[in-house]
Order: sequence, then C-alpha cells, then structure tokens
Amino acid sequence: MTSAIIRGKLIICRVMGSGSAETISDGAVFQQDGDIVDVGKYQHLRGRHPEVEVMGSSDHVVMPGLVNSHSHVGLTPFQLGVHDQPLELWGLARLGGRDVDPYLDHLYAATQMIESGVATVEVMQGADVELAEKIIKAYLDAGMRVSYGASVRDQNYLAAGAQGGAEDFLLQLPTELAKRFKSFMSRACLSTEQNVSNLQRLCGKYADNQNERVRLSLAPSNVHRCSDELLVQLKELATKHKVGIHIHLQETESQKAYGLRVWGKTPLQHLNDLGFLGRDVTCAHCVWVTEEDIRTMSDTGARACHLASSNLRLRSGIAPINRLLQMGIRVSLGTDEAGINDDKDILQEMRLVLNLHRVPDAEGSFPTAYQVFQMATENGAYVTGFGDRIGTLAPGKRADLVLLNLRNIESPYLESNVSALEAVVQRGRSLDVEMVMIDGEVVFRDRQSTRVDKEAVCKEISKSLSRPLQAHELEAKEFSDQLAPYLRRFCAKTARREPRPYYHYNARS
Ligand SMILES: [Zn+2]
Repeated sequence: MTSAIIRGKLIICRVMGSGSAETISDGAVFQQDGDIVDVGKYQHLRGRHPEVEVMGSSDHVVMPGLVNSHSHVGLTPFQLGVHDQPLELWGLARLGGRDVDPYLDHLYAATQMIESGVATVEVMQGADVELAEKIIKAYLDAGMRVSYGASVRDQNYLAAGAQGGAEDFLLQLPTELAKRFKSFMSRACLSTEQNVSNLQRLCGKYADNQNERVRLSLAPSNVHRCSDELLVQLKELATKHKVGIHIHLQETESQKAYGLRVWGKTPLQHLNDLGFLGRDVTCAHCVWVTEEDIRTMSDTGARACHLASSNLRLRSGIAPINRLLQMGIRVSLGTDEAGINDDKDILQEMRLVLNLHRVPDAEGSFPTAYQVFQMATENGAYVTGFGDRIGTLAPGKRADLVLLNLRNIESPYLESNVSALEAVVQRGRSLDVEMVMIDGEVVFRDRQSTRVDKEAVCKEISKSLSRPLQAHELEAKEFSDQLAPYLRRFCAKTARREPRPYYHYNARS
C-alpha cells in the first residue's frame, strides 16, 4: 500500500464559477493507492497520518493534473519540415513529411506534456488496432493517462468539389497526376466497412477495459471526410459501448462552405439532422460555427474543444469562445499538432486562451483565469472519458495532481488580491512544475520523468531520422510537391468572397 501527503500554500480543488474556486490554504491532499482519501488542512492531515511521506511545502500550490484534450503527434510537422500554411495545403504538405516510429514519437510527446503538468491526453490517430496498441503503450510507459481517439474517414481526404466529391479537383489535374491522386486516395481512405470493422475491434479491446489509465473515443476525422453511413454506424457503436465521440468540425471557412454547398446547411446542422449530436460528442475547433450552430450545441449538450494555437498557426481563425461560454457549452483545451511554441506546453496554451478572446468590447465577457483553468482540468476530464475519475481534487477521485513552485510566480512580490489560481494561469511556466503525480504515482520529479530517459528517446529519434529518405517517403514528397499548386488554385477558386473587415476571424451566420 503506497500513500503520501501532498501539501501546499494553497490547494486548488475545483473551479466553482467564472470568478471563484474551492481552495484550501495551508492545505494538503492525502492519497492512498492512487485514490484521494482526504483533502483538508495540512496540520489535520499530518496529525491523522504522521508516518506518511510528505511532498510539497508552503511554497507550493497543489492542483489537479492538467488535461490536453486534443493531440496527434510527438515531433511537430514543423520539426519535420512542414511549414505553417492554410489547413488544406498544410495537410497535403504533411504527406511529404518523414515517417517517425509511432511508439518513440508518442513517448517523446508524453515526456514533453508531463513537463508542463499534463497528466491526461486525448491522442488522435488511426483506427488500426496494432497502431493504437503501440501509441497507448507509449503513454502508459511514461505513466500518463490516455484516451485514444480512433480516427476514421472514408472520403474527401484532401479536396472536395462543388458537389461534395473530389471529382472537380480531379478534372483540374493532368491525366498522369489525376491517376496518381486517385490511387493515393484509395489507399488513404478505407472503405466504410473497413473503418467500422476497425472501430469494432478497438471497442472490443478498449471500450470496457478495466485499466484506470486508458479510455477509447471514436473520432470521425471531419464531417465532410466521412460518409453519412460511416457517421451513423460510428454513432451507434459509440452509444452501444458508452464511449465518447470527438470530431473535427468547422475548423476552416472552406469546411463550412462545403456544408452550405452540399447540404444547404452547416456541417454541424447536418450532424444534428443525422441525430449525431449529444452529450457524448466533442466538436474540435468550432471556429466557423454560426449562432444557430451554437444554440444547437447548447440544446444537445455537445461540447467544444478549443485549439487556439493550431487555429492561429494554420490561419483558420479564432473560435467564438466568449459566445460558447455564454451559452453554457463545456469547453476544453488542446494543443493539436503543436502549440504556439511548437511544443506541447499546456500552461502556455492556457495563457494564450486567457488573452486571445479580449475583443474590443468593454461590456463583453471573455474567459477568466478560472474558466481557462476549468477548461484544462474538469472539462478536459469529461472530454477524455475520465470525467468521474479526475479533473478535481476531492475524496473518491484518482490522485492526479501537480505541485507547482510559487517561487518564480510570486517573486519578488505579488499583491494579495491576486489569487494563486489567477497567478498560475497568468504567470505559471512549465519550469515551475516540480512534481506530477498520476494515479498516486510520481511520474515527474526534479524536472525529470521517473519512467523515461528523455535524452535517450531524443537520441533514438535523432538517429532514426538521420537515415536517408526511403523510397516511399521520396515518392510521397514528390507527389505532394507536384500536387500543391493545383490544390492551392482549387482552394482559392472554391473560397467564399464576402466583404470583410481588415481582420476576419469567424462568422456569426
Ligand atoms: Zn486535430
């Protein structure tokens, strides 16, 4: 039986509203075998458990382990030579990136995330069972909690034409390139049946698993990339196995335009018509949602995942988070492929979200530090399927927590009307994270993973990428470069042209 007392100047137990949190000064958390048994004043807990190891001090703040609700990879596309550009073109350029061993890549991702206090991640990758096993193992080996988002698509991978299919795009290509494009598409998009069969296998293996650190969610890549048949069958599977759904939605203006062109309504309204939305569904991005979409999300209980860095970097826009919060929609946070520092620093992402929505409207509201903190803790817990287990510090919850040193945050002075929570969100940096505990296990201490030799992982990655490009990588790069000017022209032709202000970040209708 392992137990510990984790103490701090302040324990941030949970956010209670846009301006308040349940906290305990000079407090402590007592955990036994990964369960939080008691939360209260340090002196009381120490008196009750005098023999137990104590971590932290009156210079620390103790808070719930943070949740990165949406991630895909370890090495970033930029690290692999893919420059930031509009999503559709960037997606094509990514085909020309290097192959990285998935286990190593996600082990690297895990060590990076833990450094900024992330205890849980939702990672989205393909629905192939063997791939899922490797990736889940990487996070478990690092000691993290992981929700595996099994990503599927059966159409429109790179381009979608006037009628919804890629046929218009094919017509723009020289004959030889059109042939290659067709052959590529048939390899990149599995059939509906194959996708459903993969998801069934994954549900069989992970949906009812007893592992405290593993959850499964089903992740249709995007509305236009999945046939209605696939969406409906996926929804049935998710309902049957009681797992969540996480779907990219209206990330770019052209994705919204696709819906208006093909269904005469937004992709979100199309999902609603299919009976797809509900409390089990998280819509990632939501940059181009309309007022009607936001009301529908609110009515159906669908959640949003905000990916601020990604949206800025790929010129997608800014999601209307102020309005989503006003409508009571549960919002979580994620770093997607990479944050603004080209890493997975969730504290940095929280600060970006704190500041990004301060639009020039003196009367309007924007996310408070409390709301941002809630996005990265309790709300993330719900999105990743661990809602009843983590996200807050309370008896009965699992012991996922972070010890943050207040030395830098409060030095040389911090006025007493600034709460520790506000100070953490406004001033906290990953170098302040001293200890991360997941499931009662210390997985990060003294700025080092207790499980993974990060230096050795980095060396192995570096070595694996120092080899010359393999034939299939060269071919993919050549194909991607050749196709790029055609896709660029096609995207420009299908873009909407409306009068716009100087900066144009989203649209109400
Ligand atoms: Zn994503």
